[in-house]
Amino acid sequence: MADPVLPSSGVLSPLGLDAVRPAPGFWGDRIALNREVTIAHCQEWMEREGWIGNFRGERPRRGREFSDSEIYKLLEAMAWADHPALPELAQTVARAQEGDGYLNTRWSGSRYTDFEWGHELYCYGHLIQAGVARLRTHGEDVLTEVAVRAADHVCRRFMTTTETCGHPEIEMALVELYRATGAERYLEMARRFVDRRGLPALGEIPFGRAYFQDDVPLRQAQAFRGHAVRALYLACGAVDVAVETGDEDLLKAVEGQWERTVARRTHLTGGMGSRHADESFGDDYELPPDRAYSETCAGIASIMLSHRLLLATGDVRHADLAERTLYNVLATGLALDGRSFFYANPLRVRVPAVPVEGVNHSAEGGLRSPWFAVSCCPSNIARTLASLPAYVAAADRDGVRVHHHTPGEIRHGGLALRVETGYPWHGAVTVTVLEDGEGRIALRVPAWAAGTEATFAHHGVVRPVAPGYAEADGPWRAGDELRLELPMRARWTFPDRRVDALRGTAAVERGPLVYCAESVADEPPLGDLAAAVEPPREHVVDGAVELEVRARLGVPDGGGWPYAAAPGEAPDGQEAALRLVPYHRWGNRGPATMRVWLPV
Ligand SMILES: [Zn+2]
Repeated sequence: MADPVLPSSGVLSPLGLDAVRPAPGFWGDRIALNREVTIAHCQEWMEREGWIGNFRGERPRRGREFSDSEIYKLLEAMAWADHPALPELAQTVARAQEGDGYLNTRWSGSRYTDFEWGHELYCYGHLIQAGVARLRTHGEDVLTEVAVRAADHVCRRFMTTTETCGHPEIEMALVELYRATGAERYLEMARRFVDRRGLPALGEIPFGRAYFQDDVPLRQAQAFRGHAVRALYLACGAVDVAVETGDEDLLKAVEGQWERTVARRTHLTGGMGSRHADESFGDDYELPPDRAYSETCAGIASIMLSHRLLLATGDVRHADLAERTLYNVLATGLALDGRSFFYANPLRVRVPAVPVEGVNHSAEGGLRSPWFAVSCCPSNIARTLASLPAYVAAADRDGVRVHHHTPGEIRHGGLALRVETGYPWHGAVTVTVLEDGEGRIALRVPAWAAGTEATFAHHGVVRPVAPGYAEADGPWRAGDELRLELPMRARWTFPDRRVDALRGTAAVERGPLVYCAESVADEPPLGDLAAAVEPPREHVVDGAVELEVRARLGVPDGGGWPYAAAPGEAPDGQEAALRLVPYHRWGNRGPATMRVWLPV
């Protein structure tokens, strides 16, 4: 089956790309844009920057020590998208592989001399994931052979050592290769990599061992910490190992860390990572909006983890977090034209960005860039959008559960369904049964729909539904219709009082979307405002829903000193309408300031 994650057990089993066919809509449009524009854009930049030339032996070698991984993520995207450029690029990679399976354009000749920063095993991880994608969409070919040779080399070299990589990633890749081939050595190697981290397995670095999760064994950790992408990739690999080895304790450990991280270390957007210095999680409730790092890759890694935990446990909360992160991090990371990207996704930008010509050497946000010196995010977006249909629905013993409401067709077992919806702008989801069939149809009712009078209609009955699933059982006749109504109304959201950086503010959400105020050119600045917590007004602009709230703008200084013996009075200032746009659409109108959390 064409699926990035295919566990052999779990409460749910995934439906792959062959079972879910997206139609035009919010995600269908982005999946098409990715296939037609973004994948070629990434390849062009990797050629221009010399990262593909490294595989041809062009000298001097260019790019950072992990740039090989970008070619592999692009190959994975091409595999899922059945892109015609794959075979030639795969040949280029294959020619660089050494006789014993070793493959790395940076460290060839000085292998495995820097486990902390070398990224050799990390790069293999992405190569192996690309190989698995190719195996499942096409069958064996040069790319799958390269990946298997590399994995076998890793097993020979590392099975009985105590070493591991400074950047987790290979763990989940090896488990997936085991799932795809049945060769148990890959699972055993992954299990050993998970278990040796934290003993410790790596040397001291200035950021401390927590940066690469080598401070304590994974089973003993309380929350995700350190570099956010590393932490989340490791958690993905640990869930995969736990599921395949039946290790309940390991699964429980990751679930516990997920719970605490979601409760205390996650931004409203679903974004993860609070610190720019080491791209890391912050402490509990350390969630500053302007210093939110929320790397696009960390959002993608969180979506990958949510998917694995959803399949393993069937707990619908994981689909809720995945939805939040899909609409507010993944969709934000890509410009509407498919050719530029955010690396960091802060929730406030105080100074309009200065446009950068060519490669952006900074990860800091403000304007999307066509490419970065460290360009992990664009190819990660490409492979995620290319495989996104696999995240839409899953199966259990009784039938199909639709987790993400997006137009298209879903086929599984005795069920063939067409989904029509204008989600996330509109909350009506209509499912039409295409062929006579059997089985339960379950549609996710998102957590955000609590208290909205959501309803579910089928077999001529309309009933209220609460967050979780709206379900109906067959038998079904072709033409039968089910209809989920999720009333879309803008709502105010308030932060936990322990989040120091957000006290005194509120944000506006509508359905799964987080909104923000954006100020371009001569629009009023966003620093001196106080918003009124009243129901926002809605406007449709270019097919998207924008909102308007009342605010006081130009709130004056408090006597030249921003502190006083008593709390301040209600702020003065000019009353005006404040326009709010979906967070994922900000930064598409040129340099701007932006804020999600509004002083109220
Ligand atoms: Zn990234």
